[in-house]
Amino acid sequence: MSTRESSSTLLARIEDSVARRGDLVLARHELVYRAGRWPLVRVASRALGEAKGVVLVLAGLHGDEIAGPITVAQELDGLAERAHRHGLGLIVYPLANPSGFDAGTRYNADHDRGSAGNGDFLRYLSDDGTLVDEVEPGPTPRRWRWSSELGVALPVETRALHECLRRDPLTRVLAALDLHQDLLSEGVGPAAYAYAYGDRSAYRSIVDAVGALVPLLAERAIGAGFGVEIDEEGRARQPSVITAVPISDADAFIERHDGSLTDLMYRLGVQHSVAVETTGATPLDVACAVNRAWLEGIVELAAVRLRAPRA
Ligand SMILES: [Zn+2]
Repeated sequence: MSTRESSSTLLARIEDSVARRGDLVLARHELVYRAGRWPLVRVASRALGEAKGVVLVLAGLHGDEIAGPITVAQELDGLAERAHRHGLGLIVYPLANPSGFDAGTRYNADHDRGSAGNGDFLRYLSDDGTLVDEVEPGPTPRRWRWSSELGVALPVETRALHECLRRDPLTRVLAALDLHQDLLSEGVGPAAYAYAYGDRSAYRSIVDAVGALVPLLAERAIGAGFGVEIDEEGRARQPSVITAVPISDADAFIERHDGSLTDLMYRLGVQHSVAVETTGATPLDVACAVNRAWLEGIVELAAVRLRAPRA
C-alpha cells in the first residue's frame, strides 16, 4: 500500500496529458468532506459541442479499485487520439472517488456510502409507487428517476457526479464504460467479467481480446456488490449469504439493473453501456490491459454507431 500513488500524483499525470494535447480540456469540481477536500476532475474534448457522437468513461468510483484510474492515466493520450480520429467526442471522469482512492477504501474518506452505496444513479418506481434500487432484467418498461431527484442520501462524490452528468450531452453518448475491480468476491483467481445489456454480440472481439489476457469468469454466480456494508475503518464487507445472485453467461456477461451508472446509461438509451470487472487476484498490469482492451473496443463500436445510418 505504501508504494501506491496518491490522487494528486495521478491527477497531475492526467493534467500533463491534457496540457500536452490541444484537443482536451480539464475542469475541477471541489468535493468537500469532513476529512478534507479533493477535486472531482472531468476531462472532455475541446470540440465536444460539435461532436455528433460521444464516448463517456468513468473510473475509480470505488476508491480501492485503482486499476481503472491507473489505466485512464496511462491511456488518456491514446484514447483521445483514437476517439478524435473517428470524429467522436470524449468525456472522462478519471478518478470519481479521489478521497477513497487516497484512503484505499471502496467508499469516501468520510466512510459515507449514502443509502445505497456511491454507485447510486437511479431508482426504480414500482407499481405501488415505492422506490427500489434494483429490478429484474426483462422487457417491461420501467419507471425510474435520477436518485438525486428523490431526496435520498447520496455521498458527496455521487451528488457531484449527478450534477456534472446532467450538464453533459448525454443524448449524444453512443458508448459508456465504467471501470471497476471486484475486490469483494472471495476464492476466485485472476479473471474478468462485465455488466452489459441486451445483444452482446457486438462485444465478440473485445471478449476474445480479454479472454487472451485472463480467464473469463463465465457461468458463475457473482454476488459482488450486493448488500455491501462497511465497518468503522471504512472496509467494505460482502454479506456471506446473498439470495438471488446473478449468473454470468458463457462470455462472462451479467445483466443487472441495479441503478448504477451503467444502468443509467442503458436507461438513457446509450447503445453500448458496459461496466468492466477484474477480480482482486488479477495482477494490476493485467487488469489495466483488460481495461485497455475495453477502452479501445468501445471507441471502435461508438465509431461504428456514428457511421451507421439513422434508423
Ligand atoms: Zn467497483
